[in-house]
Amino acid sequence: MAQAAADGTWSDAQLAAFLMGVAIRGLDVDRTRELTAGMLESGERWNLARERPNLLDKHSTGGVGDKSSLLLAPLLAAAGAPVVMLTGRGLGHTGGTADKLEAIPGFRQELDRPRALLLLDRCGIALGIATAGIAPADRKLYALRDRTATVDSLPLIVASILSKKLATGAAAIVFDVKVGDAAFLPRIEEARGLATLLAGISCELGMKAEALLTDMNQPLGDWAGHASEIREVLDCLEGHGPSETVDLTLALALALGAQIGAGWTEAGLRGLLASGAARASFVRWAVAQGAAESWFDRPELPLAPEEVVIRAPRAGCVAAVRTRRLGLLLAEAGGARRAIGSELDLGIALNYRTRLGRHVEEGEELARVYLRTPDSALAERFAVCFEVGESVTAPPLIVERIAPGAPGVAGPADAPASLVANA
Ligand code: URA
Repeated sequence: MAQAAADGTWSDAQLAAFLMGVAIRGLDVDRTRELTAGMLESGERWNLARERPNLLDKHSTGGVGDKSSLLLAPLLAAAGAPVVMLTGRGLGHTGGTADKLEAIPGFRQELDRPRALLLLDRCGIALGIATAGIAPADRKLYALRDRTATVDSLPLIVASILSKKLATGAAAIVFDVKVGDAAFLPRIEEARGLATLLAGISCELGMKAEALLTDMNQPLGDWAGHASEIREVLDCLEGHGPSETVDLTLALALALGAQIGAGWTEAGLRGLLASGAARASFVRWAVAQGAAESWFDRPELPLAPEEVVIRAPRAGCVAAVRTRRLGLLLAEAGGARRAIGSELDLGIALNYRTRLGRHVEEGEELARVYLRTPDSALAERFAVCFEVGESVTAPPLIVERIAPGAPGVAGPADAPASLVANA
């Protein structure tokens, strides 16, 4: 079937019927693995770990303000591990790494196997948008999933993500599976099912893997919006970024280090941030991918000019942040593409100035939104995303760790049948 999708042997009508069948009836774990392997085999396999043992990769299911790939890659490279990551464009309420990197003038993102190897030689990081040769079956099926309302079928998501990850062929990968309001799959049971399948099937198909379930009930760090997130990453690399962004990145790095037996410690990785080694690695990487080194002396990352301040309507505790809605509003304000190939506004941003569970006084600033033009109706819709109420306990940043093979941890065969059947 996957080959037939890639080479056009099956018509769109046949493929759409297959997708509907999977979305409605589900696939068991063995069939999900077979679909993944078929989609992988439909295109190029770069097998980069054959030439770069210990090559690392990371995948996030996406969120609001999730810029951790951009901090993780230079941190790993500074620690001596090569990194490959295929980046994507933003989807719905989530920003895409490929779009964020557009805020760095000159940064080139097209990636094929020779270029990936060249970049790994030059700076230890190859990150970009893959050539059409990777998993062509996924490209075909993904476009049809959009038109058949089968985007959120768990087996289809797993096969889609893994066919591309396995094609580049790192030695080990960590999956950051978001859970909570702005997660792709908000409910913990669904997120756990996805994480178990992603990590388990990766291992079965030859790539070491672990998954972290991480909280997406509030934006990650202080900023959401393309240029502003690059600014936050540079802040983290200069030692003054928000602790959530740094802590998540360190957790992902440690999960990867454990898989390749690197012996990294949290203190050692923090040292690479504090010493400037990770920043130097970021600059080396950006320059290798086309940026000008001089840009980093005074990085220009302008915010949109219309500032809207959101204040607490009363004293109390920050009880809820409608994070998915915030992501959608940022997109509506121009921070996302309206159609493939159209422009997006890199300066649209949200500065998140509080945290869930924090006590605030009446009138205290909770957030600041940066819009291109004044829009009081839109500003009001941003404001109602913040709820101040009674005391709540802030959710932990790292909710759960899923390592296939670890004692007591479920393997993919244990993914609940109902979840596999229907996400
Ligand atoms: N990312 C992918 O590549 N595929 C999906 O189905 C969902 C997220």
